[in-house]
Amino acid sequence: EDRNPGQPEFIQAVEEVMASLWPFISENPRYAEHAILDRLVEPERIIQFRVSWLDDAGEVHVNRGFRIQHSSAIGPYKGGLRFHPSVNQSVLKFLAFEQTFKNALTTLPMGGGKGGSDFDPKGKSPREVMRFCQSFITELYRHIGSDTDVPAGDIGVGGREVGFMTGMMKKLSNKADCVFTGKGLSFGGSLIRPEATGYGTVYFAEEMLKHAGRSMEGMRIAVSGSGNVAQYAIEKAMELGATVVTCSDSSGTVVDPAGFTREKLAVLMDVKNVHYGRVNEYAERLGLEFRPGERPWSVPVEIALPCATQNELDGDDARTLVKNGVVCVAEGANMPSTAEAVEVFEANGVLYAPGKASNAGGVATSGLEMSQNAMRISWTREEVDGRLLEIMQGIHRMCLEYGTRPDGSVNYSDGANIAGFVKVADAMLAQGVV
Ligand code: NDP
Repeated sequence: EDRNPGQPEFIQAVEEVMASLWPFISENPRYAEHAILDRLVEPERIIQFRVSWLDDAGEVHVNRGFRIQHSSAIGPYKGGLRFHPSVNQSVLKFLAFEQTFKNALTTLPMGGGKGGSDFDPKGKSPREVMRFCQSFITELYRHIGSDTDVPAGDIGVGGREVGFMTGMMKKLSNKADCVFTGKGLSFGGSLIRPEATGYGTVYFAEEMLKHAGRSMEGMRIAVSGSGNVAQYAIEKAMELGATVVTCSDSSGTVVDPAGFTREKLAVLMDVKNVHYGRVNEYAERLGLEFRPGERPWSVPVEIALPCATQNELDGDDARTLVKNGVVCVAEGANMPSTAEAVEVFEANGVLYAPGKASNAGGVATSGLEMSQNAMRISWTREEVDGRLLEIMQGIHRMCLEYGTRPDGSVNYSDGANIAGFVKVADAMLAQGVV
């Protein structure tokens, strides 16, 4: 804490990983050498810069831009950009730290990074968003490249924003380099990338349930969020026979006991992706119950998929979920459960997957986009989806390898933290003290 004052999210993420690593390292002392841990909690490089831009009325605005280049031990820095007013160095350092372990779990050669800005895209015109993206990349472009650092989307950064940034990047660099992932299909994007995080989260939950002798079919699911990850988690969960009874955003929660259908999901996507609207508009269009300011966790369900943001599910929410009979929690978002919530899940035998395992499908498919770009080919939907499923199953196996307790139950946090650490630490040991 002395080294990172005022950075609670970063400290929270580091403590969570260290709780898994201490017992492992005491049994495997070679990882206690060469200050591996001290090096891992210090980003290789942090870039912070001014982003000034003009609104439609000709007023000048100033935001802060960041890129955290956390670890390049196993490949180029890789991780998304987030545009949200809550963005600061602590939030991005936690995300970059988590990303390093997550990327290692995918088995693809990608290091960890994260970036973004405190810019709030809500209520901005498309032209203002474009001008902001162009100004942001005018500084960031000199620090990124397909062999150094490959950004993607995250909260507030979807296909539209990646398109604007890719366009400006090409103009500045005079290269058609595919520096971003999550690009549009017409300029190097991969099929299934928009779906990948949500689909992957549901694939992972299904693997956990299968391992415990159950399945998702017929179960009720609470999803939080209504953005990219939430939408495709809802779609895949429906395909696997579950009933999704909630979605939400920062305005509140929609409760729908009958559950999502394809038609309802199409309306949600129209509200969110075409009109950039709020979930209460979705509820109004379909006559569904809307609970302003509430989170979804008081609705009785067997599965919870938090897909909005960090620390959106606390100890009380976890106790309510447990009381209502939850059996499985798989994180689509990054660190949505507080440390106390995780303790409650683990004390009550709930199957709990941390985001770095269950939401790794997004970055894994970004890795597949990079491979397709490098080979200058495009794979079919089936090919990419098949690889995504295999990667999620592989991550599940790694969690079993490092997280199975003597009684046969699985601690997925320990499994994911240790498996990710071993890969990064072995690379660091092999590369010397740099
Ligand atoms: P989107 O911007 O598409 O959606 C974010 C959703 O979360 C929106 O519904 C948003 O509501 C809600 N949300 C954001 N901040 C808050 C808040 N402070 N309180 C309540 N609700 C909030 O982002 P994504 O779906 O891409 O990302 C969601 C999560 O998944 C993030 O944690 C992200 O890091 C993680 N993730 C994303 C990946 C990807 O491939 N996109 C990959 C791996 C993880 P509102 O519109 O009201 O702000």
